[in-house]
Amino acid sequence: MNFTNKVAVVTGAGSGIGQASAFGFASREAVVAVLDRDRESGEATAAHIRQQGGTASFFAVDVSVPNEVKSAVEEIVSRFVGIDILAHCAGIQSYGNAVSTTEEGWRKTLAVDLDGAFLVSKYVLPTMKKRGGGSIVITGSTQSLVAHRNSAAYVTSKHAIVGLVRSIALDFAANNIRANCVLPGAIDTPMLRWGAARDPNPERVIEACHKLALLGRMGTPEEVANMIVFLSSDLASYVTGATVVVDGGQLVPCGGTAFQLIGTGAEPE
Ligand code: NAP
Repeated sequence: MNFTNKVAVVTGAGSGIGQASAFGFASREAVVAVLDRDRESGEATAAHIRQQGGTASFFAVDVSVPNEVKSAVEEIVSRFVGIDILAHCAGIQSYGNAVSTTEEGWRKTLAVDLDGAFLVSKYVLPTMKKRGGGSIVITGSTQSLVAHRNSAAYVTSKHAIVGLVRSIALDFAANNIRANCVLPGAIDTPMLRWGAARDPNPERVIEACHKLALLGRMGTPEEVANMIVFLSSDLASYVTGATVVVDGGQLVPCGGTAFQLIGTGAEPE
């Protein structure tokens, strides 16, 4: 996998999966546009890439604000000529069921997690068309397919993202643009730690996150970034409209790991 002469736009690149993806593209020679709403962490990601000998610039963007996304894309194109890859990793977590979620909280989560994916795609796609092709990878979640309790807005936006990705794959295949969705399980990032810290016993939550996966541990941001980079590369030239789960086997046991462990049939050998 090599991205010489390719320009990769990575959102949410100041932290977690987005940052690991930015490093993954940069280490394979891509020019990286680092997008995040957090200036300090975004600048740090870009600076780290430059220190390693790569090429990167930071663009302060709130992906839920149309004009900010539009201006950033224009600036990236004027600075780097075009865009070949979009890896959309910006996102927020929120909690609440269909009653306890406030209307404001609902709108905020959908604005970032769903509108953000739409807006970055909307403004990047025309530049990819002009360029003769490209790849979009949007970060969903295992919660694009199943639900965690008390997460109505997050689960809704992550499910909807799959529809967006399939629509893009269908509508832009003729333009040589592929679109795919990566669905991470429990990944040890600041977002996950923030969620755990809301519990009276955060360590209990972290332990549960490790146990969720068949592999017995949380994933690392790099393990998701590896899939994002692969899907963005020519090695994945025949993959489009796909939802690729990166969850250490979390979704495999019917009824969840705990249900399987209490014994639902023949004893294991
Ligand atoms: P993270 O460490 O919190 O990184 C997300 C980055 O996106 C942060 O720098 C964040 O800035 C930024 N961001 C948030 N809202 C933004 C906005 N409106 N505009 C621009 N940037 C924004 O989270 P992560 O765990 O790497 O998550 C990355 C993606 O993976 C998200 O879409 C998440 O839903 C998804 N995911 C994560 C997990 C997991 O277990 N970690 C599992 C499944 C899916 P702030 O720090 O200012 O918020």
